[in-house]
Amino acid sequence: MQNQNKNNALSCQCGTAPGRMNRAFLTVDLEEWYHLDYLKGYNCRESGVRVLPRIFDFLDMLDEEGVKVTFFCVAEIADENAGILREILRRGHALGCHGLDHELLTNKSLDRFVDETRRAKGMIESAAGREITGYRASCFTMERDKLDAIRELGFTYDSSRIRFAQHPLYRNLDLTGFTQAEDLVYIQDGFSEYEIPTLEIMGYSIPISGGGYMRLFPFWLLRLLLDIYARGHENFTIYVHPFELTNLPLPLPKGLGKATTFRCLVGRRGNLKKLRKVIRWLKGRGARFITLEEDRRERGLA
Ligand SMILES: [Zn+2]
Repeated sequence: MQNQNKNNALSCQCGTAPGRMNRAFLTVDLEEWYHLDYLKGYNCRESGVRVLPRIFDFLDMLDEEGVKVTFFCVAEIADENAGILREILRRGHALGCHGLDHELLTNKSLDRFVDETRRAKGMIESAAGREITGYRASCFTMERDKLDAIRELGFTYDSSRIRFAQHPLYRNLDLTGFTQAEDLVYIQDGFSEYEIPTLEIMGYSIPISGGGYMRLFPFWLLRLLLDIYARGHENFTIYVHPFELTNLPLPLPKGLGKATTFRCLVGRRGNLKKLRKVIRWLKGRGARFITLEEDRRERGLA
């Protein structure tokens, strides 16, 4: 925490003034609603309900706002959504890999991970018709040996680091040997790691960058938290999922439990509007929305 503050202070001195934002990275984990970790073990995919075909309202909103996004696609649904992947690229967004099947990386041996990731990269590339070089681990479960492995497979950037001590799934990814280039941006030998920010309040990490909290909190509260965040940071990353960008009814399994059902459904209605407000708030603070690939180009890394 002390180091984080020191780094933030340093980046503020050489970057933007406190309260002003510099870069904003909007990212989407391109997965189906049934990929949610707490829906594993149910046969949700059998229902035939799909949220990805509903992503066009979101894409249109991005065009209207002039915002470019980085998408990370789960490879097992790349082929059935090939038209969407190509449309995403046609509109100028970036596309990366979100694993083969959305299983947690912590449940996979290194050998299995390498084999699956090689296959996943090929599957997305053949569906999208373009090489992909970005990676995000499912539920941010990246580990250092796997981070080193994706570099060997031809990936040039990753965005799986989140510092969130209280969350049972999230790890603090070891970035030994990396240099912090800027707030949330770490580089080693031309490879970049993009951190997902959390807001530390009274020793508790609030993942204000995540779609779930964005759905849960009213906009006035989000704005308040973002305002606090902006005093110590100059860059921001948002991550959302397609099921959070549409109000399509989801056939959730019976017996899921009230808390989990609430977690799945809260705030989906009107969330696209709220996201637009967050985008406009960040722009009003001077933030430039760019893809992670554009960020690498601006740093002379791609
Ligand atoms: Zn995911």
